[in-house]
Amino acid sequence: MSDRLPKDFRKLSIQERRHVLADTYQLDNEQLLGSGHADELLDLADVMVESAAGFLPLPLGIATGFIVDGVEHSIPMATEEPSVIAAATYGAKIVARGGGIATTIDDPVMTAQVFIEQANTRVAAALCSTSDPSALNELAERLKQSTDAVIPAMTERGGGYRGCDAAWLTETQLLRIQIHIDVRDAMGANVLNTVAEQLKPVITDYCGGRSLMAILTNDALQRRAQAEFRLPLHALRRKGIDSRVLAERIILAGKLAHEDPSRAVTHNKGIMNGVTAMALATGNDTRGLEAAVHRFACRDGQYRGLTSYRLDNDELVGSIELPVPLGSVGGAIGFHPVARMALNVLQIGSAGELGRIAAALGLVQNFAAVSALVAEGIQHGHMRFHAHRLAYQAGARGSIIAIAAEQITAGGVFNSQAAKSIVHQLITRNEQR
Ligand code: NAD
Repeated sequence: MSDRLPKDFRKLSIQERRHVLADTYQLDNEQLLGSGHADELLDLADVMVESAAGFLPLPLGIATGFIVDGVEHSIPMATEEPSVIAAATYGAKIVARGGGIATTIDDPVMTAQVFIEQANTRVAAALCSTSDPSALNELAERLKQSTDAVIPAMTERGGGYRGCDAAWLTETQLLRIQIHIDVRDAMGANVLNTVAEQLKPVITDYCGGRSLMAILTNDALQRRAQAEFRLPLHALRRKGIDSRVLAERIILAGKLAHEDPSRAVTHNKGIMNGVTAMALATGNDTRGLEAAVHRFACRDGQYRGLTSYRLDNDELVGSIELPVPLGSVGGAIGFHPVARMALNVLQIGSAGELGRIAAALGLVQNFAAVSALVAEGIQHGHMRFHAHRLAYQAGARGSIIAIAAEQITAGGVFNSQAAKSIVHQLITRNEQR
């Protein structure tokens, strides 16, 4: 028996790949069942990626009670982290006491880049001139016409060409031409890549040289969403801490994430706990989203937290701004049944609405985490979830999981030995009945 996969692994059917994997790595039944017990999902996996060998059944949960722009939403979230959905629902409940979250959103403009080497230096200088825009205007007219020809449907639905700019990159001696496109309800990566590829000859025809590459940038600085909540101090009530003191500590925590990049990384990770989980549930590209968000977080040269808090009279005001390169059509979104289910649960009809909810969710997720951190700490809530996992790992299934988790929490010893002993007793007691 070989301990390596055959060279033609990718050419096998998905069922054959799974047999080969099982033999090669001695996979047990639980591993095989867990990675592919439904034939139709195996077929789906097989058409989504090359060399598919199963699928990952990540929990899909629903955070409830989000009042966004006056409408109540439930938010589907796919995540492996235990406390994320509970924290979102908890935060939404508190924020709803003040009327919920108000949002705004920019137009869904994404940017394609074409990099030219050995461009005509005279033309490049004219394109990059800050005093005379005539060369850039001339190129812009050509790019607009070509874009309209490449993506006529996008222009018809109200999106399409929105402008261009040029920059000279001194280290690499490359001329960068950027084309800005309104992608309406798409995330836009494929749309932009198509435009960039098709417009290469138009650009080299104008400025000479040759294209090094043509691709979208995931830097989605122009496609941002903003969210804000206002919460009367009396609505901020939390056990064991005065509301005004809590608000002041939340505000200080926001300032801390603004000042200290190392704190900001964790602060923003917590925001993305929610936003990424919703992006994943809706079939969106989570890497593009996260790259855009973290780039935005250091737009002034230092990595900073994305939320801020202040007191206004007797109200705590929380706000967030972040880029939202998310689609409600395209990619895996209209294709994957779970993504379609998630969009149905969200009850939204456009990428703009999804972006607004992403901002609201990010803000609430941060509010929930920071309020816990500056009050009793987050470990208290986390251990309750950890106890469920310990019980499962120790062999508990069905109704025994919750009972065992409760006993583990009550005992206060969170390790596998304690969990095994509790689960063993519960199973034995059940068998004796
Ligand atoms: P897509 O290629 O599916 O294009 C969107 C399609 O939806 C277009 O054909 C468009 O005409 C159609 N459409 C229908 N109704 C629309 C509406 N109301 N608004 C807008 N378009 C509408 O998807 P995409 O969004 O261009 O690309 C997203 C995919 O590209 C993701 O799967 C992503 O992972 C992948 N990708 C990402 C990168 C990157 O981020 N660097 C690179 C390559 C590919």
